[in-house]
Amino acid sequence: MSKTGHKFDSTILREYDIRGVVGKTLHVADAGAIGRAFGTIVRRNGGKKVALGYDGRLSSPELAKACVDGLTSVGVDVIEIGLAATPMLYFAVWHLEADGGIQITGSHNPPDFNGFKMMLGKKSFYGSEIQKLGEIAAKGDFETGKGTVDTQPVLDDYAARLLKDVKPGRTLKVAWDTGNGAVGVSIRAVVGKLPGTHYILNEKVDGTFPAHHPDPTVPENLKELQAKVKKEGCDLGIAFDGDGDRIGAIDGKGRILWGDQLMILWARDVLRTRPGATIIGDVKASQALFDEIQRAGGTPLMWKTGHSVIKTKMAELKSPLAGEMSGHIFFADTFYGFDDALYCGLRLLNIIATGSESLAEMLDKLPHLVNTPELRFDCADDRKFVVVEEVKARLKQAGAKLNDIDGVRVSTPDGWWLLRASNTQPVLVARCESANQAGLERLKADLKAALSASGVELPDEASAGHH
Ligand SMILES: [Zn+2]
Repeated sequence: MSKTGHKFDSTILREYDIRGVVGKTLHVADAGAIGRAFGTIVRRNGGKKVALGYDGRLSSPELAKACVDGLTSVGVDVIEIGLAATPMLYFAVWHLEADGGIQITGSHNPPDFNGFKMMLGKKSFYGSEIQKLGEIAAKGDFETGKGTVDTQPVLDDYAARLLKDVKPGRTLKVAWDTGNGAVGVSIRAVVGKLPGTHYILNEKVDGTFPAHHPDPTVPENLKELQAKVKKEGCDLGIAFDGDGDRIGAIDGKGRILWGDQLMILWARDVLRTRPGATIIGDVKASQALFDEIQRAGGTPLMWKTGHSVIKTKMAELKSPLAGEMSGHIFFADTFYGFDDALYCGLRLLNIIATGSESLAEMLDKLPHLVNTPELRFDCADDRKFVVVEEVKARLKQAGAKLNDIDGVRVSTPDGWWLLRASNTQPVLVARCESANQAGLERLKADLKAALSASGVELPDEASAGHH
């Protein structure tokens, strides 16, 4: 009912979601205002029903309550699905035919973070829409009304939907590490029904993440899973981030398969039933992914990094598969097109169970290029985009061959290097890839020189690594 405006800390309204440090930049009152402003947008979009879930962070229930109060105060009916991984909330929006969804989650960030991922209708709510939410809140331009609150568990339906796409094949031994994240809620309902032998690590949802940080793109966080795979002689291991929308995988030898390598396997699989289809990879992905999509009869497309922009692009192009280096993978051939890491795990098992090769054999046969991991290094928020623009301008002037869809991805006879600004952190992101080590060293020198001309020093790989 309030006409009083609410101002958010300027750092929390981000490109793909709302995220902040609880008690510092993100407060319970913000959750209420997000509920009122988002609910207002849903109502003005002709909707009335919003599904809401939250991850296992200690601050989540309190933020959820305030958000629900905000939603109902503008006349939105809320369906609470309770503690859930983000993809289970996405599923609920589809399954319950809601007009929008809100997942309260800090994703893979440290325990003191939390945030909001939103869907309007069945689409990602991001970019300028999030800015508009901020404007509505600042003006206090809220709808009025009195909505209802209903609780509707969706776990059984969700598990049944995921299991529907499991193919019969040889039985596998698999280790799964949910990292005390929200996939702990749903893993047993799904994996418990699979044939074979399954070991679940860190299943108990615990927002303090006692075992390790729930981010499977950091090798350190995969050590426990690697040890389990080795000890039990598993065919593979699968890991999840804190809210279950990113996957990590290791083969039976304990080697990590990065998002772009896994994508090659999934692309080949999808292209068998969708010949010629457009398959999307992000600008950080290896050239091998785009080459292999082509070789398998698909149409490769390189697109911007960011789960919301990728989902939007794939819907626009009716692409059956898209994926990011970071492990956000989207299946739309027989699934909904949102990033569900548990579903991706099942699709990986399908490939191995129905084929004759082990995952390790498949990895051995992938094209061998030499590349850096994703290099991330600090650069102030007000500087990072400027640096990329400066580098781009100089390269263009020099006549370099480049793709500037998201930062700059420069091709040379040696391979390519990428420089882009993170949309979510005061960080610059870089990556280089070549056919051989000497070429990689030359690319790194090119990147270093390009940055240096803008007064930025490229740290050595060890200190820049993933984080
Ligand atoms: Zn996540």
